[in-house]
Amino acid sequence: MLVDSHAHIDVSRFDSDREAVIAAAVAGGVTRIVDPGCDLASSRAALALAKAHPGVVFAGVGTHPHDATTHTAEVEEQYRAMAREPEVVAIGEFGLDYFRMLSPREVQREVFCAHLRLARECDLPCIIHTRDSHDDVIELLRAHGQGLRGVFHCFSGTVAQAEECLEFGGFLLSFAGPLTRQGNELPEVARMAPLSRILVETDSPYLVPKPLRERRNEPLFVKTTAEKLAEIRGMTLEEIAQVTTANAVRLFNLAQYSENES
Ligand SMILES: [Zn+2]
Repeated sequence: MLVDSHAHIDVSRFDSDREAVIAAAVAGGVTRIVDPGCDLASSRAALALAKAHPGVVFAGVGTHPHDATTHTAEVEEQYRAMAREPEVVAIGEFGLDYFRMLSPREVQREVFCAHLRLARECDLPCIIHTRDSHDDVIELLRAHGQGLRGVFHCFSGTVAQAEECLEFGGFLLSFAGPLTRQGNELPEVARMAPLSRILVETDSPYLVPKPLRERRNEPLFVKTTAEKLAEIRGMTLEEIAQVTTANAVRLFNLAQYSENES
């Protein structure tokens, strides 16, 4: 049993077969999926999906750095209200993206800090997106994120950067499709990270794992990344599944839902 800790199954690329994609994941052993919002509309869509699939789909609410200019006080108020719903298990995804820089850097930084405050107020974990912005993310977390918990989603940095991320005791590193690709330090990162600090995800519909070739990614394929992680750690897929699932259940407090089901 695996958890896909990050999949945008609310996006339109799943409109034609969303239910089948969720069913295929569950049937294949990917029994829980966290769908993070990227703006108000997708946060609402993620929550609606979570309500329609109790105990299987969970939602995050937040504004992606690409959309940081849409993050108003009213939007934040909506997130605050949504965060009271039991299906909302995280604030995010939010972060800093200086690669595409679709919102000005200063706006991204302000909105980043607004999400940290919201996570603290709601006592929820953070789902953090970082691209070409590692130093700023670390700086802002050191200044405003002490005591918070969360995940560096789709971690794609170096060993040195991973070490800095892991200094935040409540934070985990999540591995996605790039772990299966060449030309990065991710195998080293995956080898050094404590077992209690790792998650797996797909970031569907993006970042399909290499062995699957170019196609739409979906939660079921988290298995490919988990297999790669198992190979790197010299563990079985079952062991990696057990460890990463326990980590996801702990971080997002998913256990309450399995108790409700029984
Ligand atoms: Zn994402």
